[in-house]
Amino acid sequence: MSTQKSINQNATRLGVCPHCQTTIASVDILIEYETGDGQPKVWTECPCCHEVVHPE
Ligand SMILES: [Zn+2]
Repeated sequence: MSTQKSINQNATRLGVCPHCQTTIASVDILIEYETGDGQPKVWTECPCCHEVVHPE
């Protein structure tokens, strides 16, 4: 079993906060997980409103 994971030091833009439309980047990730269909998902903390959100 080997898991390939690329470690990206750069801040990748993930989307925007659904509350305030602030751009959310990979540096704001709190938790990463995978769903059953293999789509990686992340919970992030918005740097503006400090809500824990899924970037859209
Ligand atoms: Zn926000």
